Amino acid sequence: MNLKEEERRARLLKMRAERLPDIKKQFEEAQKRNFNSNFAPGGKDAKLVAKPAKKTAAKATKAVKETAKSKAKSEAEARKVNLSVSTKKGEMVHHQRMLSQDVNAQATQHIIGIPVNKSRYNGYNGEQVTNAKIKSSRPDPDAVRIIPIGGLGEFGIGKNMTIIEYKSEMIVIDMGVLFAGDDYPGVNYMIPDIKYLEDNMQNVKAILFTHAHLDHIGACRHLLPKFNPLIPIYGTDFTIDMIKKQMSELEDVPELNYQVVQPLKHEKYQVSEHFSVEFIHTLHSIPGNTAIVVRTPNGLIYLSGDWRHEENPMGIQTDYERIDEIVKNEGIDLMLNESTNIDSPGRHPHSEFDVGDSLGKVMDHYANGRVIISCFSSQISRIELILKEAAARGRKVAFSGFSMINNVEVALRAKSIKVPKDTIMKMEDIIKLPDEKVCIVCTGSQGELNAVLNRMITGAHKFIKIKSTDTVVFSSNPIPGNEPHVVSTVDGLLREGAQVIQNGKTHLTNIGPLHLSGHAYYEDHVDFVTRLHPTNYLPYHGEFYMLQHNAEMAENVIGIPKDRILIADDGDIIEFTKDKKIKKSGRIHVGNKLYDDADQPVHEAVIKDRIHISREGIFIIVLTLNKKTGHLMKTPDIVSRAFIYLDNSEELIGKIRHYLRQKTDKSISTDPEMKVLKEEIKEDITHILFDATGHTPIVIPVINKV
Ligand SMILES: [Zn+2]
Ligand SMILES: [Zn+2]
Repeated sequence: MNLKEEERRARLLKMRAERLPDIKKQFEEAQKRNFNSNFAPGGKDAKLVAKPAKKTAAKATKAVKETAKSKAKSEAEARKVNLSVSTKKGEMVHHQRMLSQDVNAQATQHIIGIPVNKSRYNGYNGEQVTNAKIKSSRPDPDAVRIIPIGGLGEFGIGKNMTIIEYKSEMIVIDMGVLFAGDDYPGVNYMIPDIKYLEDNMQNVKAILFTHAHLDHIGACRHLLPKFNPLIPIYGTDFTIDMIKKQMSELEDVPELNYQVVQPLKHEKYQVSEHFSVEFIHTLHSIPGNTAIVVRTPNGLIYLSGDWRHEENPMGIQTDYERIDEIVKNEGIDLMLNESTNIDSPGRHPHSEFDVGDSLGKVMDHYANGRVIISCFSSQISRIELILKEAAARGRKVAFSGFSMINNVEVALRAKSIKVPKDTIMKMEDIIKLPDEKVCIVCTGSQGELNAVLNRMITGAHKFIKIKSTDTVVFSSNPIPGNEPHVVSTVDGLLREGAQVIQNGKTHLTNIGPLHLSGHAYYEDHVDFVTRLHPTNYLPYHGEFYMLQHNAEMAENVIGIPKDRILIADDGDIIEFTKDKKIKKSGRIHVGNKLYDDADQPVHEAVIKDRIHISREGIFIIVLTLNKKTGHLMKTPDIVSRAFIYLDNSEELIGKIRHYLRQKTDKSISTDPEMKVLKEEIKEDITHILFDATGHTPIVIPVINKV
């Protein structure tokens, strides 16, 4: 450990020791607080315990209704069939209720009404905000409003999108997607619901992009066409090219007003009467990455975007000079800082160059076979290093995977990558070379089922099948949630006899590191926030715990006062006032739009059905009745999907057919409305099925009258 490092550590430890009594006090304070239960009025679950509304209906109408009701009741009684089941109806209802709670919990993880937020940084001193409080908040007409509409406190990181608003001017920063994960069957990704922007379209003056990762530009295809095409869209050349590539997938590619920025020129763009913006070059894991400075009537806002600190970067160092200049001359009144790796202690222990060296070592050590390297397709620096290491060893490189080839093309055009002469070859040509001359760079490091790596295992890939002399490198870490998929891919590779080398498992092969995260670690945040010395602090780009830990760091280590730190949720309006304070003031409508892998929208109700069916199945009965007599004309058709296999269930099917015959016979005299009859059949069949199997599939009765 060098002296500088020791000094820094000592300083940190001292700071933390000094703040320890404060932290203890915070906990005591929290314990004394009057916790507003979710069931209290205004709480998240208040409606579940709400008292029934007062009876105001006139007695006469009531009486009429009562008679009608009792008539319907006695008719229903007449149609009743003995189900000969051993379970009580209550048991079935209980099962259905639990199931529906599970389905709702799974399907509405990303639905944002008033989120539960009792953090001490929630802007209401740890009290849960209520609808009434939100309604009574008086907006300050002279405040600058910061409104995150995606990317904060969600399950997974993504969907990043922020609005900055002043009077009738708005700027929009980033338009990301969030990949939905296994909880949302058949959903590929979700994008922010931009109703608020759609309602105020005429106020949007500029759209800015920090960088080209999909969690920042992935929703462009759906959202940009909704805006006036004359609105300027700012970003670096690599970012704009990646957006254009996205837009080119549309059937009607709109002509948009793209404005390429060069952050190192330190240009300020007056995008509206009151907003001026400046892009700052910062380091991340993609070319053309920036932070954004927004100068507003109430002060200067620094949006960090995604960033990491490197002592020895591959490209140009973060523009600390410009940042220091801004801090010194103007001061940062509000900092929005990303939170992704706030839980990773220390700082990056190595550089991208070390990753390159490790990949070279792999090529040396496994010199007799093909080397297949899988990494994120936007890791252009990593790809440059692979090309360099391969060229030095006389290996040719082929790229595989749609996004991989796309991104390399964009990088070549934007001059973001240096390519050694005669090193890149097409996949179809590379198979003509001897194995020891081959290096393949591909997608699939997250274990995606349809990505190249998995197709190479199963033999579904057009040119390559994994063989036992191959060495496969995972130059990446699994994104949380993807671990099981990665394991299954690794297992598949090992079964084919390949050598697999993963980042973080250096002890197995003595080769590593093989990956460098694109996001700053804890100590990097401490240093950077100290350097920027912001007056107000808003953690963003993170799940709730990340935001919380980021806020705690700001208060306990940096020393920013608690009332100048906010943990916001998507949809919160944060007012940045003339006297340079921040406070929450109301909410806007936010939410998600879900899309499948054909880019088609998926409704939330469809997701709920899919989850229900995936757990319990679906059961359809088709009855054909004589229009005149009401008698069953033929044996009812029964279809069971994802529930029970009918050929093995003769007894149950017999019981159901028997029930249906009785039920239709008994219904003839009362001739109930179709809707009522269907409902009764649905309920009875569900009960019979529950009694036999313990499950309540979706039951659909279809009645034809001929
Ligand atoms: Zn990023
Ligand atoms: Zn990001």
